Amino acid sequence: MKFAVDLHMHSCLSPCGDMDMTPNNIINMCKLKGLDMIAVTDHNTAMQLPVIQKVADYVGVSLLPGLEVTTREEAHMLAYFRTVEEAVDFSKYIYPHLPPIKNKPKLFGIQAYMNEDDEIISEEERLLITALDLSIDELFCEISGRGGIAVPAHINRGANGLLQALGFVSAELDFKALEVTKGLPLPHKGLPEVKHLHSSDAHYLENIFEREEFLELDKPTPEAFFDYILA
Ligand SMILES: [Zn+2]
Ligand SMILES: [Zn+2]
Repeated sequence: MKFAVDLHMHSCLSPCGDMDMTPNNIINMCKLKGLDMIAVTDHNTAMQLPVIQKVADYVGVSLLPGLEVTTREEAHMLAYFRTVEEAVDFSKYIYPHLPPIKNKPKLFGIQAYMNEDDEIISEEERLLITALDLSIDELFCEISGRGGIAVPAHINRGANGLLQALGFVSAELDFKALEVTKGLPLPHKGLPEVKHLHSSDAHYLENIFEREEFLELDKPTPEAFFDYILA
């Protein structure tokens, strides 16, 4: 069956995520739009996911646990996991690899942890949008070793896409999928023949996809997504 998905967006824990990107707003907007499965992928952290999972379960939207890491080469890469626990474990692993730079909320935006009532319970002090001191190879191995799936993000968009950050997609890393930004050119040569994912990378509620991107899955669940990507 085909299920409508949007597997890349940011909550208000990402400094660049709009403060309207609260757990309830995101999940209810996705429900309203009729999306079957979504992923909230904050920059270098999965620590808002336990609350988002609770809201998603309550509202009835399937959540694929994920985050968007910044590699030492300044490339953005999505890391998807089967469970929120696995994503949180990985998040705790990478945290000490973030440089100890304090967030400047006025400059970069607030990094808010919210509860299930969309109340700010605390703020993350360390700036989350800097590069980790881990290379793309190290992160790929760490994510794969934990049973996750590493997907280079928006490879054809901006300086943080792999094609600009590295100039190529490494053939040595066994990527199973690439995220490609729709509407932007994509070189036809030099790309591994793997699945392409298209997502909104929404930082604002209005940018979350409508029912426009579909995956052929048995069910709209993380397990079925893993089966599809790893097949
Ligand atoms: Zn990105
Ligand atoms: Zn993003």
